[in-house]
Amino acid sequence: MSGHFWAATSVPHDRFRLVRDEGLAWFRSSAEARRGFCRRCGASLFWQPEGEDRISFAPAALDSDAGLETAEHIFTEAAGDYHRPEGQPPPPGAGPERLRASCLCGALRFTLPGPAGEITACHCRQCRTLSGHFAASFDAEEASLAWGDRQGLAEYRTVGGGVRGFCAGCGSSLWFRATDGAFSVEAGCVDGPTGGRLARHIHVADKGGYYALDDGLPQAAED
Ligand SMILES: [Zn+2]
Ligand SMILES: [Zn+2]
Repeated sequence: MSGHFWAATSVPHDRFRLVRDEGLAWFRSSAEARRGFCRRCGASLFWQPEGEDRISFAPAALDSDAGLETAEHIFTEAAGDYHRPEGQPPPPGAGPERLRASCLCGALRFTLPGPAGEITACHCRQCRTLSGHFAASFDAEEASLAWGDRQGLAEYRTVGGGVRGFCAGCGSSLWFRATDGAFSVEAGCVDGPTGGRLARHIHVADKGGYYALDDGLPQAAED
């Protein structure tokens, strides 16, 4: 859903107040929980387990860091092949000649030429808010994407004039098209191995304070 991986903290319902909920949509992602996202921009915001009096939310949505720190990584066995939750990313595997990608609800599917190659993590404010943590994506030719059903594809035009593609049904982040036409696909929406490898971090000047970057990869303050 986030396009990379998600980070969340939680708060009891009695300390949580929804100030404005225009555009808030929920997707039932499992029998136990539903995920809340903004249907206007696709921002990944909430995870609500059934029958619990706490709501989980992305600290990336906060205007300040609120003194949070990353405590643990979970479901690490399901992490994408292009990175490790901690430490250096593994050497790239072969990866299929054709990558398959989909959103969380399965309404949107496409394929594109593989392997993914170099993957860039972006820590800019926009990528953090929309992904719910930070983004990781790789360059692709937009014309090389072969779509299955495309109904349900939503687009959000950013203040900078770029366009982000996401699923209107589940909020999954899928791609970004810059004003100059440069196109990138979110690594997290690829099903199975990407054959890519996380190569760098950009816009680290805007990075969230609740996580550390300790994978030894090059970091650029901007891009
Ligand atoms: Zn979807
Ligand atoms: Zn960014």
